[in-house]
Amino acid sequence: MKLRCIAILNRRDIPVYMQNFDETPNEDTNVKYQYLAHTSVDVIEERMANGKSTDLYLGLLQTVGEIAIYGYVLNTGARIILMISVPEYIVRSAAIREIFQQIHAGYIALVCNPFNDEQEEGKKCIGIDTAYNVGAVIASGDKHHVLSTGYSRELPGNTHAEQCALMKIAARKELVPKTAVMYTTMEPCSKRSAGNTPCVKRVLESGIRLVYVGAREPPIFVQCTGIKELTDNGVKVVHIAELEAECKALNLHLERKL
Ligand SMILES: [Zn+2]
Repeated sequence: MKLRCIAILNRRDIPVYMQNFDETPNEDTNVKYQYLAHTSVDVIEERMANGKSTDLYLGLLQTVGEIAIYGYVLNTGARIILMISVPEYIVRSAAIREIFQQIHAGYIALVCNPFNDEQEEGKKCIGIDTAYNVGAVIASGDKHHVLSTGYSRELPGNTHAEQCALMKIAARKELVPKTAVMYTTMEPCSKRSAGNTPCVKRVLESGIRLVYVGAREPPIFVQCTGIKELTDNGVKVVHIAELEAECKALNLHLERKL
């Protein structure tokens, strides 16, 4: 399969990433792919307005000349557009789905990671020796936008990322919608020191039914059973194995404790 272009647009249709994979990329094809990305977004909007599909993968959006264009919508509302050459476009749907899942993982790493310099807010949490650096995002699963973000110790006290993201919604006197999805760079904690509610309990109480996890919690402080507890209580947990190393890298300063 010959990949021509990957484009990611945010939910306001502003391109946040575009890569031309032609052997000799030039301004003409850049403009052409940009145009195709925008017309594909129109197709996505139509599909989303018509269908009630909760699947992120939208399949083939359109073919334009020799190019087949596929679409994928993230829970945050961002859209990923994949353009490939038609002669090879009769590929297994599973293969296309897999490519999108990998791009999805990469994109989550970017938006979910508050330690990433490219992030707008330029948030930085200060590493300490007694707790992890974690980032979390809560997105609305159906309306496709970010409801809240959080990172370790963002709010006063030894607060956790998931906790901060949930507390910020509560502070607005809002309820977490039933369709909400959580992204977190690390498995939500199942044990905390006295007086602190573990994030697993908070997630279960919030009603969130789908959690994407970057890395499992390493056994530095406690044996975490967060993923198991969520799953046992009917929450779907997707461990994004591709992100494991990157999410763990946020906590290299703690690894020496192992
Ligand atoms: Zn926690």
